[in-house]
Amino acid sequence: MIILGFESSCDETGVAVVDTQRGLLAHALHSQVAMHEDYGGVVPELASRDHIRRVLPLTREALAQAGLGLDDVDAVAYTAGPGLAGALLVGASVARSIAWARDLPAIPIHHLEGHLLSPLLADPRPEFPFVALLVSGGHTQLMRVDGVGQYTLLGETLDDAAGEAFDKTAKLLGLGYPGGPALAALAEGADETRFELPRPKLHSQDLDFSFSGLKTAVLTRLRQLERDAPEGRVAESDRAALAAATQAAIVDVLVAKSLRALKETGLKRIVVAGGVGANRRLRERLVAGLARLKGQAYFPPLALCTDNGAMIAFAAAMRVQAGLADLTDTKPAFDVHPRWALSEIG
Ligand code: ATP
Ligand code: MG
Ligand code: FE
Repeated sequence: MIILGFESSCDETGVAVVDTQRGLLAHALHSQVAMHEDYGGVVPELASRDHIRRVLPLTREALAQAGLGLDDVDAVAYTAGPGLAGALLVGASVARSIAWARDLPAIPIHHLEGHLLSPLLADPRPEFPFVALLVSGGHTQLMRVDGVGQYTLLGETLDDAAGEAFDKTAKLLGLGYPGGPALAALAEGADETRFELPRPKLHSQDLDFSFSGLKTAVLTRLRQLERDAPEGRVAESDRAALAAATQAAIVDVLVAKSLRALKETGLKRIVVAGGVGANRRLRERLVAGLARLKGQAYFPPLALCTDNGAMIAFAAAMRVQAGLADLTDTKPAFDVHPRWALSEIG
């Protein structure tokens, strides 16, 4: 079965073609990062308008790459939430319109399920059950995954998401949006021990996280450095060391809680999903920590860590194969869920 999938929950427009038998055939992606950069974050109205501009050209591109036409498509999938309402509506309305016009089933997909299953697009592919560390711009969760649609929340952030912590501290350091990759680049090769930052909840007996205190700690440090610096200009090596210390603090907590989750569940496999999963230090530290537990880490292909259409079409394919997709749903109506907990889907 050929599935055409759409992602438009935030600032990436993604369209992909997945064959339930052969896997990912093609995906086309446009990131609005450059457009939102001047504003230091995503402007919802601009995001929606840009999704409208991009979605059909990307659809043509993805189909052409796959060597297929709309006639070959058997089902359409789209991100139904969570995300920005106006942005979600673009993907949902285009997907539902194509499905209705062609009398095809439309499969609404939870964005986080897309992220969660994306490591299964890589080789080697993890077997169920596994622990998933979902670290994105809006979420930080540890989950037990027993199969498609079988997700148990083990712990999550009580305030900011890990990606948000990267983005906010990067902003303090005068770096562009999104902050994660920029902060990681600045931290490269710098002394991460020069500044000591808090590691909130590192030793707490639970699987929850808290990152909001980190940005205050970074801000305090930065102000201090500014006061001490000639003309208030912080030395480049200090900025880099502060970036490295921030990255180290976030990564240490993520790795410690991930290992704790494996111990508590008795599982040996962990998959990392979401944009922060692209972070090299996180990948290295997690792999090193797992060696002692004889555990195995799985990551999505680097290009599929942040938002994309491939993970949405792929999640739909997995749901079809698991018998969890309603293939009779061709109704000419759609709704989106800007706020939507993963625990609400089966
Ligand atoms: P959600 O999926 O929760 O709705 P989102 O879709 O905005 O949020 P993603 O696209 O999965 O999140 O990831 C974006 C986040 O990943 C941003 O916060 C970005 O800073 C972070 N990120 C991307 N690359 C890196 C990196 N190399 N190191 C650290 N963080 C990174
Ligand atoms: Mg994004
Ligand atoms: Fe996302």
